[in-house]
Amino acid sequence: MELDIKWIGSQNYGLPRGTKGRRGNKVIAIVDHIMEGTLVGTDAWFNSIESEASAHFGIGKSGEIHQYVDLNNVAWHTGKVSNPSWALLIKGLNPNYYTIGIEHEGYSGEDLTENQFQATLELHRILIKKFNLEVNKETIIGHFRIDSVNKYKCPGVGFPWKRLFNELQQSEDEIIFSDIPPQHWAAESVRKIKEVGIMVGYSDGTFRGEENITRYELASALDRLMN
Ligand SMILES: [Zn+2]
Repeated sequence: MELDIKWIGSQNYGLPRGTKGRRGNKVIAIVDHIMEGTLVGTDAWFNSIESEASAHFGIGKSGEIHQYVDLNNVAWHTGKVSNPSWALLIKGLNPNYYTIGIEHEGYSGEDLTENQFQATLELHRILIKKFNLEVNKETIIGHFRIDSVNKYKCPGVGFPWKRLFNELQQSEDEIIFSDIPPQHWAAESVRKIKEVGIMVGYSDGTFRGEENITRYELASALDRLMN
């Protein structure tokens, strides 16, 4: 899936404002938020100097993705650290330095729309790959893990953690050959026969599923099946 990301921009980035980069800190987690409002309202909010708030991305109910802050820069999305439950929190360092923030249109308690879920899933996949993150409960977190006092409803009970983790973990497992996308109709079958060693790919990591199989190759696959 190609992601269509619309650049909106915001002056609310960097510490102090306008400073580029992350002072050498690596991104170690994605923080998910709920807007408590609309995408249009968030565009305006992040473009108000007084709000002193931003995030890298905002995802609308239609699946539209807006970007406010460059990935190389620090967005202002984590707010105060208050009674946190996040294991990777670095003491004394503002979490904005080492996180990416994604806002979701809507209100705490609401479900994401299907388009919104698909967009955030794909965006998570891209960010996980870009920043080389493992997929677990410490690398993909809700805002409430940083501030459980004031932000305990962010992103709220409607946020589809279970489905998101299932899909993300699945996509990690399923990338078995570089030329088979996880959503390919035969991906699951190919994964199984590779797992049990009946068919192997080429040394360059491809499967080349459209190529013909020779009688020799079939014979050796069947031989492996019988052993
Ligand atoms: Zn939040």
